[in-house]
Amino acid sequence: MADSPTVFDIVVLGGGSGGYAAALRATELGLSVALVEAEKLGGTCLHWGCIPTKALLHAAELADGAKDSEKYGVKATFEGIDMAGVHAYKDGVIGRLYKGLQGLVKAHGITYVEGYGRLVGPDTVEVDGARYQGRNIILATGSYAKTLPGLEIGGRIMTSDQALTLDRVPSSAIILGGGVIGSEFASVWKSFGADVTIIEALPHLVPNEDEALSKAFERAYRKRKINFSTGVRFQSATQDDQGVHVTLEDGKTFDADILLVAVGRGPRTDGLGYGEQGVTLDRGFVITNERLHTGVANIYAVGDIVPGLQLAHRGFAQGIFVAEEIAGLSPATIVESGIPRVTYSEPEVASVGVTEAKAKELHGDDAVEVLEYNLGGNGRSQILGTAGFVKLVRQKDGPVLGVHMIGARVGELIAEGQLIVNWEAYPEDVAGLVHAHPTQNEAIGEAFLALAGKPLHAHN
Ligand SMILES: Cc1cc2nc3c(=O)[nH]c(=O)nc-3n(C[C@H](O)[C@H](O)[C@H](O)COP(=O)(O)OP(=O)(O)OC[C@H]3O[C@@H](n4cnc5c(N)ncnc54)[C@H](O)[C@@H]3O)c2cc1C
Repeated sequence: MADSPTVFDIVVLGGGSGGYAAALRATELGLSVALVEAEKLGGTCLHWGCIPTKALLHAAELADGAKDSEKYGVKATFEGIDMAGVHAYKDGVIGRLYKGLQGLVKAHGITYVEGYGRLVGPDTVEVDGARYQGRNIILATGSYAKTLPGLEIGGRIMTSDQALTLDRVPSSAIILGGGVIGSEFASVWKSFGADVTIIEALPHLVPNEDEALSKAFERAYRKRKINFSTGVRFQSATQDDQGVHVTLEDGKTFDADILLVAVGRGPRTDGLGYGEQGVTLDRGFVITNERLHTGVANIYAVGDIVPGLQLAHRGFAQGIFVAEEIAGLSPATIVESGIPRVTYSEPEVASVGVTEAKAKELHGDDAVEVLEYNLGGNGRSQILGTAGFVKLVRQKDGPVLGVHMIGARVGELIAEGQLIVNWEAYPEDVAGLVHAHPTQNEAIGEAFLALAGKPLHAHN
């Protein structure tokens, strides 16, 4: 007997980066898909994450350009920020991408279900009383901005969700958390004219990066007069008509117009029926094997609900992987350390592969070689007026294990870094490749020339 028409090959719960990528790839492979989304197709990244923050950062770069114009012999003055104008630009970018994505989902013949779904059986998602059955289920419900115990969001105390729609430039901001999101907002608000202080409990800003990058980032922020306190934990915060008042565990106090809480993102899995169906949860995260299978029936999970890097392109890759897995293509598993990471602040930080410390832990201190190539020797970086470096980590007589960079626009250079690391290239292989002059990419080429023992424009 034929299946009832409501049985799909795949039901995807959540239409963010992970979920929609799985849906698009699965339909390309001839599978039928229902995609359930409670809010907006595109999820956090498109509407409240990657895209809006990068639009703000671009506006911030233009503001800096106007302020610094004299340095380049250009007569321009910075008169201020029109937040309504910034939002119109940002929302225009989101709107165009949103429309494009909706078109893609339609063109792929995906059954798009608007509503809040719950897993009510190992093969069934319920949305507003209607049941959608799938031979396979993909959980992709993403994440939410966390706060700390006793720190209530509201008024002057906000997460990135509210910060992205703030209708004014704050006169001053305290940012709790010096990771990627906190550092990016610090960069934007400083460029827009706010007085910014970051509070980070760990010893460094961007603490997940190679320590050399974290330290260089701190130097750059100090130079930009972005204040920060590291290594001391937050204790409490209050707010009144005058502003927010923050106290740290060492007794230090800070006052500002607003407080941005950027202390990480938690998995959105509560009350969705996952545990009831036998899916293993650890502090709310869905535990899977390396093939992203939950161990229960044909249930898979992708994106921010799976422990690891919470990045959109990881979600895309995992979504594609699971679609191909279900289609029987046996795709190669995703190597987490091979996923590139970028902090899009000024300066940018970009890395792929393992840090020097991790490489030494894995291979032993004597088996690891590192090289730093200073952007001072890179023509294009000098033209842009940026400072920074490329740091290479390699196994002695072995392949490149990590590429780490800091400087304006280095996020765009990580594409080459990721090929080098993921293809396990040897420095000698890369040193033989000709890089265009004058580009910032050339800094990677020069770093490899130096590592291969034949430096060109390398200054110590
Ligand atoms: C401020 C900020 C900046 C960021 N910048 C970057 C960046 O520059 N680069 C980068 O790679 N990553 C960035 N990220 C992270 C990126 O946004 C996430 O890693 C990515 O969105 C995760 O994709 P996902 O599919 O797992 O979840 P999400 O994008 O969160 O999507 C999950 C979707 O599921 C839906 N959903 C949840 N529960 C249900 C339910 N019960 N029924 C139906 N639908 C449901 C939600 O509405 C949502 O649309 C940023 C995040 C933030 C917050």
